[in-house]
Amino acid sequence: MTTVVFGGAGFVGSHLCRRLLFDGHNVLCVDDLSTGVRENISELLPDERFTFLNQDICNPLDVEASLIFNLACPASPKAYQKTPTRTTKTAVIGAINCLELANKNQATVFQASTSEVYGDAKIHPQTESYWGNVNPVGQRACYDEGKRCAETLFFDYHREFKTDIRVGRIFNTYGPRMRASDGRVVTTLITQALHDKPLTVYGDGSQTRSFCYVDDLIEGIMRMVSQSDHVGPMNLGNPNEVTILELARMILQLTGSKSEVLFRDLPQDDPLKRKPDIRTAQSALDQWEPKVSLTEGLRKTITHLREETQR
Ligand code: NAD
Ligand code: UDP
Repeated sequence: MTTVVFGGAGFVGSHLCRRLLFDGHNVLCVDDLSTGVRENISELLPDERFTFLNQDICNPLDVEASLIFNLACPASPKAYQKTPTRTTKTAVIGAINCLELANKNQATVFQASTSEVYGDAKIHPQTESYWGNVNPVGQRACYDEGKRCAETLFFDYHREFKTDIRVGRIFNTYGPRMRASDGRVVTTLITQALHDKPLTVYGDGSQTRSFCYVDDLIEGIMRMVSQSDHVGPMNLGNPNEVTILELARMILQLTGSKSEVLFRDLPQDDPLKRKPDIRTAQSALDQWEPKVSLTEGLRKTITHLREETQR
């Protein structure tokens, strides 16, 4: 039987495909390469257990599958705001197509949800029981509301059709194979530092995020689909919270760059504080917790981006 990874040519998806092959799965990677790139999976293509299908998740897929992961959705604010109506369609129609495929096959289906369902959170750290604070008509709504509706669909399919779902709420994750130009803060600041360009910090840099190294996230996702007692929603992230200015300073120090920090306007509805409460995941997933420190993860990401800029 096949494991289907929608969005498998993206940053997280390409790490997941590698892990699944390592664990012995046959993998069908379905991706329209809108924000993912073929290079992310090029070294997997010779493996006969790996198949790539260039297809939009908004078109239904009829294949045999025992396990399905839905990661197909632009994740960078720059990318998802460029084609906002397409973002919402991808999140909502994509969720329906995944759930229908799961039902047809009686497969387990994992939804890559997001901390963005909490919006500009009014409680801190964010627990799964918090319903969030999302502006439904703002620039981030195409993604936030799309992902919230996807969660609704997952839980309604679960209640109505007994679909075997898992919903993981992923908090800011970074690491190698995140595209330098995709606009998210870690790769943007590292790339700027490596080119001795000013580091663009939005607002005064006092907004916080909690960054999780990709290997830790993949371990959490795999543990979530390996058990059936907890379907979610479940926060998956690293609770180590830093301000964006602290992140910029760490990147300057680790790259040895002499770049300056350039302050720019804070984008609309940019969440001011974000940190996951991961107690649910810890108790449900056999004491899972992130192991890679921010310094160590940034070093690995810097090495990867340095190699990429030299290519
Ligand atoms: P990414 O942009 O690198 O990957 C998304 C992948 O989905 C890309 O390969 C893209 O080509 C593909 N895709 C987009 N629209 C599609 C469509 N209509 N049909 C088929 N494929 C499509 O982003 P990522 O960081 O790897 O994120 C993967 C998933 O995890 C996303 O669903 C995202 O919302 C979720 N997530 C990621 C983070 C994070 O910090 N990385 C945080 C929260 C949630
Ligand atoms: N950010 C920044 N400079 C950049 C890109 C992002 O200061 O060049 C900030 C952004 O305003 C936000 C945080 O970094 O407060 C994380 O942004 P990102 O786009 O990576 O993800 P988000 O968590 O906002 O979805």
